[in-house]
Amino acid sequence: MRAALKEALSRGWVRMVALVCAATVGARIAGAVLSSEIHFSATLAEPGKFSRLEVALLLIGAGISIALFFRRFGPILCIIFRSKKDKDFSLHPIGRRMWDFFWEVLCQGKVIRQRPLPGLAHAFVFWGFLAFALVSLNHLANPFGLAFLRPASYVGNFYFLFAAIWALLVAVSITVLFVRRFLARPIWLGEKLSYESGVIAFLIFLLMVSYLGAFFVGDGGAAVKALWWMHTLTLLVFLPLIPHTKHLHLVLSPLTVFLKRDGFSKIPPLSSDEDFGLIAGKDVTQLISLQVYSCVECGRCTEHCPASNTGKVLNPKEIVLGVQSYLNQSGPASDAPLLTEALVESRDNPPARYMSMEAAFECTTCGSCEYQCPVGIQHLPIIIGLRRGATNTGAWEDTHGTKLFLALEKQGNALGLSAMERDKFIQKQGFPIFDGTQEYCLWLGCMGGYDPKGREIVADFARVMRYLGTSFGVLKKEKCTGDPARRLGNDLVFQTMAESGLKAFEAAKVQKIVSICPHCVRTISNDWREYGIAPEIEHHSEFMARHKDRLPQQNSGESIVYHDPCYLGRYRDVYEEPREIVARAGELVEAPRSHERSFCCGAGGGLAFLGEETGERVSHVRAAELVATGAKIVGTACPFCNTMFRDALSSMGDAPPQLLDIAQLTARALPTMQKTGER
Ligand code: SF4
Ligand code: SF4
Repeated sequence: MRAALKEALSRGWVRMVALVCAATVGARIAGAVLSSEIHFSATLAEPGKFSRLEVALLLIGAGISIALFFRRFGPILCIIFRSKKDKDFSLHPIGRRMWDFFWEVLCQGKVIRQRPLPGLAHAFVFWGFLAFALVSLNHLANPFGLAFLRPASYVGNFYFLFAAIWALLVAVSITVLFVRRFLARPIWLGEKLSYESGVIAFLIFLLMVSYLGAFFVGDGGAAVKALWWMHTLTLLVFLPLIPHTKHLHLVLSPLTVFLKRDGFSKIPPLSSDEDFGLIAGKDVTQLISLQVYSCVECGRCTEHCPASNTGKVLNPKEIVLGVQSYLNQSGPASDAPLLTEALVESRDNPPARYMSMEAAFECTTCGSCEYQCPVGIQHLPIIIGLRRGATNTGAWEDTHGTKLFLALEKQGNALGLSAMERDKFIQKQGFPIFDGTQEYCLWLGCMGGYDPKGREIVADFARVMRYLGTSFGVLKKEKCTGDPARRLGNDLVFQTMAESGLKAFEAAKVQKIVSICPHCVRTISNDWREYGIAPEIEHHSEFMARHKDRLPQQNSGESIVYHDPCYLGRYRDVYEEPREIVARAGELVEAPRSHERSFCCGAGGGLAFLGEETGERVSHVRAAELVATGAKIVGTACPFCNTMFRDALSSMGDAPPQLLDIAQLTARALPTMQKTGER
């Protein structure tokens, strides 16, 4: 039956017929009202008297409803409170929290911005609920003679009419959401039809209709009483369903948004020497528990996830629901592992498949999921926490991963090359060694110091700095920031890298740093804080945009499609600066997915150093999207994106677009004499 229904709904014509039927019924109701078959009165009809039996029935019904609500909500609260404390949690900055609450919860800003139509429909339901809170209290207080709003008073009548407008908006909006969920069915909602969502939608619709109906029954005693009871029973059935369904977010998500960790993709410090990350239920913190129970199963995280979009096992929504189902089954004190290790066996066994080590290590840490989530769930502390649990304990065995960690430990760079290679490059470029007299320390990073294409970018950026007359120097010895180790969950290697980098800056008396790599910028400015405060650092796009008026402009007229790197856009909120640079070099073209919605290149989270991907290659999917814009040049602002696209573009026909970093686009316009002493 269920399969047949799913099969039927998957056909476009069935959905069309259903939509036409829904429209016909709606039109019929509207027609009946307009043709005055039903008479509208501007005053809400309320029952005058309630018998003792009715009051007793109401008390019993309310008691059962509240008891059923707490029967499920109580254990959930217990799980959240019994989870491990978040050692680093602080309410500071309270201003930011209040703003997020105002914007994301009260204004529903995030919900509307990311998906305008369904977002607006959801917002109307939410605002309608707020407007309806007083009406519902008054409704239930009426049989006890405690009603505080009366249809006969001006204030009461005004408020009831005001609530009626909201009731109409809620009824229409919930119908739209129902049609979307059950008839249009975007694939991100998952294969499973949520029947409970249908029941909830029906109950909300019934609540609104039974309220609105009281404006159409005049003083008819029996009809008024029937509507009152219909409304009351719907309320009493609706309440216990909240904690039993994903509608629990109605209660939890305002709290989740207010309490979420400060900072995007913030990886919390390990709480002690015994803490190795998220291994079992006992490692799940209160914030994580609160967040996973707030999931509304909208699938926005999965819709934007590059791994899910390219046929990999990783599905951020299922990771969140996987932790939730673990807590339901095993509780927060359990020693049972969160991740399944048997990759192959778990593949055909959802949800174990989604909570597998394979899934956790497919994440590029692009941050789309966290950025998109409307209820404040922070996926990256969870996913990286799971990786920490696997890596720090040696449970994750991967030859590429092991090679990478060894390269970081022994050579100090992720490419595993000798530090002599960097020395040779510095000498060839004539880069001065930072001695405290220069304004900037130019941080090369692994890509800028060792990768051939990264070196070209650094060399061109150095030309730009020289042209501007900005003094700079490079560190004599520079190690990786530890970014790939951090994102792959190796805390020991990361700590070594961070402490060594902080010491190097201190010893050289560095005040300001600039780098071509958004990953280095993020790690130094943010992740290193666990071990000390690094000097101020900025990305070369910010540096060049600030000095743009002093740079020669040479708009070639060529179309340039700019790719937003995840670690510059979503992580650092830098979108316009690189575009200003691109627009001076040619005609800026936007990719279909750009700015906050930019699609990852596939390199982040240490994945650039791991082995072959399963499914399609993320870099190929993104490169094809950039090529499809018809632009002559692909503009990048991250050496990792650059290297991923270099390989992807080379496999795309005879004349792929040229691939240039924003530093290279700028350097093209510099006088030729500036080229001396390079590469
Ligand atoms: S960070 Fe990116 S790759 Fe990782 S789960 Fe989220 S959306 Fe997917
Ligand atoms: S985690 Fe957030 S974005 Fe993903 S399904 Fe749940 S509520 Fe939606």
